[in-house]
Amino acid sequence: MGVCPSARMPLLSDNFTGFLRPWARPEVLTCTSWGAPIIWDGTFDPDVAQQKVRQQNLTIGLTVFAVGRYLEKYLARFLETAEQHFMVGQRVVYYVFTERPAAVPHMALGQGRLRVEYVARERRWQDVSMERMRTLHEALGGRLGREAHFVICMDVDQHFSGAFGPEVLAESVAQLHAWHYHWPRWLLPFERDARSAAALGPGEGDFYYHAAVFGGSVAAVRKLTAHCAQAMLRDRARGVEARWHDESHLNKFFWLHKPAKVLSPEFCWSPEIGSRAEIRRPRLLWAPKEYAVVRD
Ligand code: UDP
Ligand code: MN
Repeated sequence: MGVCPSARMPLLSDNFTGFLRPWARPEVLTCTSWGAPIIWDGTFDPDVAQQKVRQQNLTIGLTVFAVGRYLEKYLARFLETAEQHFMVGQRVVYYVFTERPAAVPHMALGQGRLRVEYVARERRWQDVSMERMRTLHEALGGRLGREAHFVICMDVDQHFSGAFGPEVLAESVAQLHAWHYHWPRWLLPFERDARSAAALGPGEGDFYYHAAVFGGSVAAVRKLTAHCAQAMLRDRARGVEARWHDESHLNKFFWLHKPAKVLSPEFCWSPEIGSRAEIRRPRLLWAPKEYAVVRD
């Protein structure tokens, strides 16, 4: 297992160098082969990260889609727990995308401002998921892009359970998938069909990233969303659809453009996996999958 050598720390492309202690978790991988930190509980000082962001007076956007039954089922808890745990003490703007803006629950928000954006409802759940890339790209070219410096994009079928703070911020941020972080690379569920723009060849792919959490600077997330939206259009024109939809394209993007920071599975954990010694403090928990209830 690798540990970021301190000589490489200045290479990290964010402003928070000096707050990382990768050696604090010798039992897990805390640095990628390209020098990006993989942050685990104990490997960063949340107070230092907090101060840096305050000094820079940053606004952080949190985007989430709640279309169809996902709205009633998940949105209120997602936002309530975000208020308790997401970037507490920072300037936050929540962007909720839905086809029924009037149905968004009225909530007393303290720190965060809520923006509700209309999005057309796609018929297939796969299309709802995939269309997020195009919608986000447009939003980043508009008000969201003007308001926020950093943006974190999330699934709605989860809730916060612990501090999810500025330690996660970097030029581009990817999330290790809770079910796959300990699998051998050749088994990872990347798209392998060469007809798809998401395809990775044998030996390609660093980690399997979860599309339920990704982010970075506005410019970086614009680039990511543009790539994925275009790749999905190309696939559609060829009559193919990647195995895990937008997530497959996200994985291709992060293979081509390595993330500047990687989040350990503590930042998006599935309680169904049970307890694991290396998962100390989960910060975001998946809701149980109830596809029969939320998908048509
Ligand atoms: N989503 C939605 N309505 C749908 C399908 C998807 O709002 O009908 C959004 C929602 O934010 C959801 C995300 O797209 O969390 C991804 O879909 P899902 O969570 O079902 O995918 P999974 O996590 O199971 O891969
Ligand atoms: Mn999900």
